[in-house]
Amino acid sequence: MKNEKENLISRAPVVVILGHVDHGKTSILDFIRKTKVVEKESGGITQHVGAYQITHQEKEITFIDTPGHEAFGAMRSRGAKVADLAILVVAGEEGIKPQTKEAIVCIKKAGIPMIVAINKMDKAEADSEKVKRELSKADILVESLGGKILSIETSAKTGKGIIELLDLILLVAEMEGLKANLSDRTEGVVIESYLDQKRGPVATLLVRSGVLKVGNFLGTFSAFGKIKVLEDFQGKKIESASPSVPCSVLGFQKVPGVGEKFKTFDSLELAEQYTQAKQEKAEERQVIINEEGIKILNLILKTDVVGSLEAIEGVLKNLPQEKVGLRILKKDVGEITSEDIKLAQASKARIIGFRVKANKDIKNEADRKNITIIIFDVIYDLSQAVRNLMERFLKPEVERSDIGKVKVLAIFRREKNRQIIGGKVVEGEAERGVKIEVIREGAVIGTGGRMVSFQRDKKEAEKAIKGQECGMLYEGNVKIEQGDILVLYKEGKKKSEL
Ligand code: GDP
Repeated sequence: MKNEKENLISRAPVVVILGHVDHGKTSILDFIRKTKVVEKESGGITQHVGAYQITHQEKEITFIDTPGHEAFGAMRSRGAKVADLAILVVAGEEGIKPQTKEAIVCIKKAGIPMIVAINKMDKAEADSEKVKRELSKADILVESLGGKILSIETSAKTGKGIIELLDLILLVAEMEGLKANLSDRTEGVVIESYLDQKRGPVATLLVRSGVLKVGNFLGTFSAFGKIKVLEDFQGKKIESASPSVPCSVLGFQKVPGVGEKFKTFDSLELAEQYTQAKQEKAEERQVIINEEGIKILNLILKTDVVGSLEAIEGVLKNLPQEKVGLRILKKDVGEITSEDIKLAQASKARIIGFRVKANKDIKNEADRKNITIIIFDVIYDLSQAVRNLMERFLKPEVERSDIGKVKVLAIFRREKNRQIIGGKVVEGEAERGVKIEVIREGAVIGTGGRMVSFQRDKKEAEKAIKGQECGMLYEGNVKIEQGDILVLYKEGKKKSEL
């Protein structure tokens, strides 16, 4: 316990700004950024990375730079704790609007403290007392009306109240006593992500515990990788990022989704396994099983004209359905709509479009709700894709292939479930990352352990061939002894067919 405490550090509060559209969220964020972020010497245009950090009264504050409760809600719905504190922006001349109410619900669900900023106070019509009374009706009682919630009058145009707002943020953060444990496993949240034409997938991460370093292996729900480059929010290269410090990461093999949690792993293989397991689990949850125990793929079909609808239905009906059933829940002509997404969510269906469009809002909504939309303009491609989706419901067959045998010559070190072993390749070859079956006196005494590190002549190596000696770090439950034979094997998944 003592150790844990010793590594606890105070960390910067992470702040999110919510409120009705046009009430001034972006303007407040821009005002703070302009007055508080010292532009780096390079002076280039900094890419929007979804978060920035300022220093106020010698203390850091991190702002999530994607305003709006939509994004915040999406992050929360994925289970990520993103912000420590919320600013609820209400325009002084307009008062409470529908999205203000939604934002209040969102903040309450997150269980984080809020500060109310009554904005646009430079306008003659602005009436902060009226806003406060309206807020009290929505169960938000500010201090001046006898409640506990702090509020401040601001103007993103003149700057009125912004410094005081920052003071209040530090005050609330102080009361919350925000801490992070540096010796914990490193984890956090994806704040923003995109595909850069030159640099590949880029993700802005916010570390919540531990320290993120160049070279770390990362896994999220949908992507994994090794950190090749780490940058601060202004694009400057850094070696590590501690809790509450936003940073951009290059090295994901694919763009991770906003709001996904990330964790670090000891190896790329382990990171990949984590992502794979998450995907499989999510897919399983998406599956409907009928009374006979057969898995059913639900589809919503949207096409350009009635003629294509009929043609596609005909083709899909011909797909083999003994192992996996196919059900077209809805078929319709026209663009993909929000209704379709709601139905897909309620019925675990995939949306298949043929020569139709889904606009950006629809795509975003689908993305947030984890709904698959695939659009085709060739019927054959469409039917192949549906076949693929159905095949994904079948459990893949695991194929084992043995690659070699190692005789154990010495055990150098033993920890809980790890051992450092010296051995000689007696058959085939040895390779880093393979799985291991342990044989003693001709009998299998354990399977499934893994070789996590591999050396030849005391150097990290990829391979050794018959007759060569090698050093291995074994991770697994078997207590290996001198004289044991290690069978090294790989496992590949083979897709099952319909
Ligand atoms: P958001 O949708 O909440 O991000 O709102 P914006 O920051 O985009 O602001 C909407 C409009 O209100 C813009 O035209 C801003 O220039 C204006 N605006 C924002 N804050 C203020 C303010 O304090 N005073 C005045 N007069 N206009 C503001």
